[in-house]
Amino acid sequence: MAKFKWEEMRPDEFVAARTAAPVAYVAIGPLEWHSLHLPLGTDTLKAYHYVCAVAERVGGVVYPPLYCAINAANRHDLPLTSTAFGPELFGQIIDAVLDFIATNGFKLIFILNGHGGQLWRVQQAAEAIREKYGITVYPTQDDMHSRDGLYTGDHAGGEETSAMLHIAQDLVDLSKLPSVPGPLDNDKLIIHSPKPDPRTQSSADYGRDSAEVIIEDMARVVTDLLAGKDAAPQEE
Ligand SMILES: [Zn+2]
Repeated sequence: MAKFKWEEMRPDEFVAARTAAPVAYVAIGPLEWHSLHLPLGTDTLKAYHYVCAVAERVGGVVYPPLYCAINAANRHDLPLTSTAFGPELFGQIIDAVLDFIATNGFKLIFILNGHGGQLWRVQQAAEAIREKYGITVYPTQDDMHSRDGLYTGDHAGGEETSAMLHIAQDLVDLSKLPSVPGPLDNDKLIIHSPKPDPRTQSSADYGRDSAEVIIEDMARVVTDLLAGKDAAPQEE
């Protein structure tokens, strides 16, 4: 299989990949508390998995996962902190990374933001790069490529846990949560979801189904944009 990870390519491979499909992908998200059962990089691991899957299908070059966020779950009762850099520093980092990517001759930069509350700043950065370089920059989020309510964008609940069970089962440990049928204190554990009980409402199969829909739609968008077409919203 052709390589698609930026950091693994030699110059000839990089140029060949860019010539075949002049799109660069960036996955952005925090290192953040994701309750007791999910890895700290969940948002970013998930976004990175999706853009890698799109690159496998459509081609292009994937920038290494960018672990940063404006805000994240930080609370005094948690045993660790999360990357919450604030809008100014976050914006500077995104601006610099997108500028660096744009100087490498891509016609399209596809940005998958894996975390809520910061897409607005990614969009600002995208607009600035569009104006400066005259290229297409497409910032988006995974929930915007889902359908039938498969993935609405939760935090550590049944949706995200399913996604992680599909993507990296070995990084998920549901036994770290209080055992069933005991109660789950979602506020204390910071679980927000339409499927609030990941112990009983998550599965790798569900994660695979939602991932497939999301990846397929993102691949369609990238293909359309590379062909010079506007990326139409997906059909319902
Ligand atoms: Zn998350």
